[in-house]
Amino acid sequence: MATYTYDVVIIGSGPAGESAAMASAKAGKKVAVIEGRGLVGGNCAHKGTIPSKSLRHAVKQIIQFKTSSLFRENGESWRITYPRVLAAANQVIPKQVELHTDFYVRNRVAVYSGFASFLDANTVEVKFSEGSTETIHAEHFIIATGSRPYQPADVDFTHPRIYDSDSILEMKHTPRHILIYGAGVIGCEYASIFSGLGVKVDLINSRDRLLSFLDDEISDALSYHLRDNGVRVRHSETYEKIEATERGVTLYLQSGKRIKADALLWCNGRSGNTDQLNLESVGLTPDHRGNLTVNEQYQTDVENIYAVGDVVGWPSLASASYDQGRALAAVILGEPANDVSEVPTGIYTLPEISSVGKTERELTEARVPYEVGRCLFKNTARGQISGEDVGMLKLLFNVDTGALLGVHCFGAEAAEIIHIGQAIMSQPGENNNISFFLNTTFNYPTMAEAYRLAALDGTNRINRQ
Ligand SMILES: Cc1cc2nc3c(=O)[nH]c(=O)nc-3n(C[C@H](O)[C@H](O)[C@H](O)COP(=O)(O)OP(=O)(O)OC[C@H]3O[C@@H](n4cnc5c(N)ncnc54)[C@H](O)[C@@H]3O)c2cc1C
Repeated sequence: MATYTYDVVIIGSGPAGESAAMASAKAGKKVAVIEGRGLVGGNCAHKGTIPSKSLRHAVKQIIQFKTSSLFRENGESWRITYPRVLAAANQVIPKQVELHTDFYVRNRVAVYSGFASFLDANTVEVKFSEGSTETIHAEHFIIATGSRPYQPADVDFTHPRIYDSDSILEMKHTPRHILIYGAGVIGCEYASIFSGLGVKVDLINSRDRLLSFLDDEISDALSYHLRDNGVRVRHSETYEKIEATERGVTLYLQSGKRIKADALLWCNGRSGNTDQLNLESVGLTPDHRGNLTVNEQYQTDVENIYAVGDVVGWPSLASASYDQGRALAAVILGEPANDVSEVPTGIYTLPEISSVGKTERELTEARVPYEVGRCLFKNTARGQISGEDVGMLKLLFNVDTGALLGVHCFGAEAAEIIHIGQAIMSQPGENNNISFFLNTTFNYPTMAEAYRLAALDGTNRINRQ
């Protein structure tokens, strides 16, 4: 059995592991990554962000085609199956794998294709698929093993009609009616995807409103548009049991309701991938959802073992995972690390949602005097030209200073245009002022012009008072 020694060894090749590996290697460290899947990219590239966003893109194209008078004149019926959309979406994954593989090659990071488990705080064993093992020593270990869908014991995920967000990428047919249990970000995104394909969707939410961390107006707009697209949203419901047969699946709710459909997609929670790491050997105990606790330096209770990405819980985003990995590499190198606590939200429902900074509720609770500037996309030239006129940009700013406090967007390209507001909000001193949008020339016609119109709306409200 061979033994190898590195400065830094990372377990997992998702965005968190990859960015930690690249930053450490660029700083001259001898780095290895251990990846159990056989291909790099993490769940992000194979099961999460990339496949779901590719699926959504394909469905968006179908919707645009179906609703455009340019392509369709006589209202012919036209249907594309889920497997066909999935096949189109799957073409992106090998491109991603190739791209990420190249990063490891170019930066001379060794990649071990096997499952890692700890032997002690400086040693892991890698088990390869054919059964052989290797032992790897390192000064620093980074656990970036990500997460997987949480599967409660009383739901039979082996049944062909019951899916989670991993196995839905293997579904071989187009259901006529799907139940989505769990109305978090993933549940809402899949509700958009399936309703966009013309599938009847019931979205079951255990809370009393959708995505309650969003600004209320945006959350209300999401509920309205999901319903408008045919999604039946049911709030404050919890499952009692789920029964699946050859003919269908029935969801029994604690409220006494019974809903039948062709398939059920479980989107209720995720578990950290820590069960295969033999953490007992180093004295680490994950919480009940398999997540690890770390301090501000991403350090676990064992000094040389760190954790980043989904395995440490919130915010469980590829974007934040990537930055956490880089920040952790800086910690290990003894350099100043970026703060990864101000994370924008990007939710790829149809239409999409994005926000950064404070919500109206938070500002009200904090007794901050604020005003709101809004621009409805239907009032922008770009929205009218592209036909993507559903949506709104909303700016929250301090009445006394003009400081931009929050940006909330719903509609086409929301996740892109939010970054304009984010850039201004993060400017030091008085430069984070809403006046930037009034005194700067924007390309025309663009969705970004919505910033100018929203700022005008907000400042006009103050001037009228
Ligand atoms: C359906 C869905 C949609 C999403 N959409 C978005 C989005 O639009 N935007 C966004 O920012 N985020 C999104 N996310 C979240 C995003 O995918 C995750 O936050 C991100 O993948 C976490 O990255 P990570 O590096 O922590 O781990 P992961 O990407 O989960 O990768 C971890 C890797 O570790 C490997 N591993 C695990 N255990 C071991 C072991 N013992 N030995 C060796 N290897 C191991 C796994 O095989 C895996 O490849 C989405 C997630 C899902 C499920």
